[in-house]
Amino acid sequence: MTARTIFALSTAPGRAGVAVIRISGPDAAAVLKALAGDLPAPRHAVLRTLTDTEKEPIDRSLVLWFPGPKSFTGEDLAELHVHGGRAIIQMLTDVLAAQQGLRPAEAGEFTRRAFDAGKLDLTEVEGLADLIDAETRAQARQALRQMEGALGQRITDWRDRLLRARAHMEAAIDFADEELPEGLDAEVRVQIMQLAGEIDATLQDAARGERLREGLTVAIVGAPNAGKSSLLNAVAARDAAIVAETAGTTRDIVEVHLDLGGYPVTLADTAGLRALDPADADPIEAEGIRRARAKAEQADLRLVVFDATQGIDAATADLLNDDSLIAWNKQDLPGGTPPVEVASRPVYPVSARTHAGLPELLDRLQAKVTEQLGVAGAAPAITRARHRSALQAASEALDRAGSADAAELAAEDLRYATHALGRVTGEVDVEDLLDVIFRDFCIGK
Ligand code: GDP
Ligand code: ZN
Repeated sequence: MTARTIFALSTAPGRAGVAVIRISGPDAAAVLKALAGDLPAPRHAVLRTLTDTEKEPIDRSLVLWFPGPKSFTGEDLAELHVHGGRAIIQMLTDVLAAQQGLRPAEAGEFTRRAFDAGKLDLTEVEGLADLIDAETRAQARQALRQMEGALGQRITDWRDRLLRARAHMEAAIDFADEELPEGLDAEVRVQIMQLAGEIDATLQDAARGERLREGLTVAIVGAPNAGKSSLLNAVAARDAAIVAETAGTTRDIVEVHLDLGGYPVTLADTAGLRALDPADADPIEAEGIRRARAKAEQADLRLVVFDATQGIDAATADLLNDDSLIAWNKQDLPGGTPPVEVASRPVYPVSARTHAGLPELLDRLQAKVTEQLGVAGAAPAITRARHRSALQAASEALDRAGSADAAELAAEDLRYATHALGRVTGEVDVEDLLDVIFRDFCIGK
């Protein structure tokens, strides 16, 4: 029989001031007594000397005891806040691994137990994963809201109302022998259409939640030698904003991850656009142009770079759209005055060499990003494709139900919509989703 009680280091491995080890399951009390003496009062931090099986001291640590079901996992759970040294952690994990009934936890297993115990619904589990992964303030805020149940509660509320409407309708069908109901009862029809309207309103969010979770991408486009790579490197050198860099095949940075005012942004370099028509270029260059165009198409925003000494080229001007920012680069070189606007869009004079104009350009970029990802309103954010497709399916089923002329058909659509909503929170039929969702967690979470 596999051990039911699990343990893991819940903090990141390596040297640290404090490390937290968690133990969850039926043997947690016995293990804690063996390590630290009497069980502490529930949910109170106490200072104890932890000892090994020979009663040799390992560390002096804060110990917390959370008897189930009032614990994260819903089971008996102990937390050891030890000094974060390699030897201490090694000695403790050795002692724990040697105990009967104990085994190291798998990735996400604590959270999986919390889900199985009904402590968290699936959207809250996802919120917790996002909170751990969040790199910017706005991402962390959105994740916290979801972890606290904002989306899950909304969906559960919809599902409860749907279940009531269904019960009402099915009762009507049962009495059909005496009094054949023509289509839907008017009251149920109103309830269904109102629900569909609320779900649709939540879906009309320009995918803000998903985009905040993923981060916005900005493609840098322009002619060869306009200074795209130099501009990217100049932004990367302003280390205040930088989160991470991705190196390309050459030593040049190809992507920079930025935190702009709390919003995550990936700035990506592309190949130069020499020709309007890729057929005019050699095969390798044509492929580069094709990819640069594709990247610009997929990106949320475009940073369009012109070389001040060359002026406007048609291939680059062709890519200007409403979501473009224009950089007029190489201002340090002698040349004419930059235009105020191109294609009625404002121009930002910059120098990738001296960094002149860069703060203004980044401020404008931040404003654009805030415009796209900012305040989503009162509705909880949809943060994943699976939420969106389930809500879409539910909304379509409700529309069908609302206009069905036989009550039996409407009942079938309502069942379908209820099921779609139940899968989002993990209320029904989610075995196939669980492995995917918990796989993204690390050990100890
Ligand atoms: P890309 O092909 O658009 O990526 O252009 P690069 O960033 O590789 O730059 C092409 C050339 O222009 C390089 O020699 C750069 O040093 C130069 N360059 C880029 N930006 C500036 C600038 O602001 N001022 C000056 N004087 N030269 C620049
Ligand atoms: Zn380049």
